[in-house]
Amino acid sequence: MNSLARTPGLAPEFAARVLHDVPMSKHTSWHVGGPADLFFIPRDTMDLAAFIRQLPADLPLLWIGLGSNLLVRDGGVRGVVVSTHGALGSVERISATRIQAGAGVPCARIARQCVQWGLGPAEFLAGIPGTLGGALAMNAGAWGGETWRHVVAVETLDRRGARHTRTPADYEIGYRHVRGRAGEWFVGARLEFERKPGTKDDAIRELLERRRQTQPIGEWSCGSVFTNPPGDHAARLIESAGLKGFRIGDASVSEKHANFIINHGAARAADIEALILHLQRAVAAAHHIELATEVRIVGEPA
Ligand SMILES: Cc1cc2nc3c(=O)[nH]c(=O)nc-3n(C[C@H](O)[C@H](O)[C@H](O)COP(=O)(O)OP(=O)(O)OC[C@H]3O[C@@H](n4cnc5c(N)ncnc54)[C@H](O)[C@@H]3O)c2cc1C
Repeated sequence: MNSLARTPGLAPEFAARVLHDVPMSKHTSWHVGGPADLFFIPRDTMDLAAFIRQLPADLPLLWIGLGSNLLVRDGGVRGVVVSTHGALGSVERISATRIQAGAGVPCARIARQCVQWGLGPAEFLAGIPGTLGGALAMNAGAWGGETWRHVVAVETLDRRGARHTRTPADYEIGYRHVRGRAGEWFVGARLEFERKPGTKDDAIRELLERRRQTQPIGEWSCGSVFTNPPGDHAARLIESAGLKGFRIGDASVSEKHANFIINHGAARAADIEALILHLQRAVAAAHHIELATEVRIVGEPA
């Protein structure tokens, strides 16, 4: 079947560029997830706006960055996945203390660039293996730093492909929590930092080294699976319930950091989701605390 026949309703110039049945396991840091029906990498924001404008209104849309906080189920994703990584990738300094970056820029690049420009504190972004778009959606943070503390304004696209400029006042923002208008996605942001002329790459290296000592970096994970409940740590609760190393299929709770679930190579999303449920039940039974997932679970079961 040719691509036009497989993408009813898509304009021919986009039907030719849309990929079909793309395994999401190739686009997530857990390396699990079934196929996306359609997968689109835009050239730039204008291209993305034009693409969205011509999509059938009822076609579901999922935006992803580097997939470092996503559990995609084994049955995959119906509709279109828009990947900003590899696109929307510009970073520029627009004033003494402000930068403008596209949603597809890796957080680590923003951290390094800010150090070069003598701006900070942006080092915390170095250890977050996602894009700026994902960091905006999650209010990603580490070592006391948080993405939205630096946001002056964001640029968004809505489901009709129209562009908007929003400010933090337009969002409800909290710990790993951001809620704005439904049906709008980030294409870029203006961020503000302080002038820190003495900041060196060493600051980034030190933070990454501290991370390597405490977290299973290099293994297939999505970072912290659960948010920390008020006044406590999900890792402590899981560990004290005796669950370090607990395994379902080829997925297990990390021995190094109990809030990480590792895919040892052959785990399925269903194994990881079953493990998440097991941890929630076991922690509720042991500590009477409901752990909430930080990781976003999307897609269809197999
Ligand atoms: C080893 C490891 C360590 C980690 N450490 C940290 C940490 O210290 N702190 C922390 O906060 N997180 C951490 N994470 C989790 C993850 O890196 C962050 O949540 C990151 O911000 C996700 O970015 P992403 O581009 O990968 O987003 P994705 O995983 O691709 O998507 C995450 C969510 O954001 C949405 N989204 C993505 N792009 C956009 C967009 N442009 N507009 C609107 N919505 C969008 C997606 O739909 C999805 O709901 C870690 C992950 C790993 C694997």
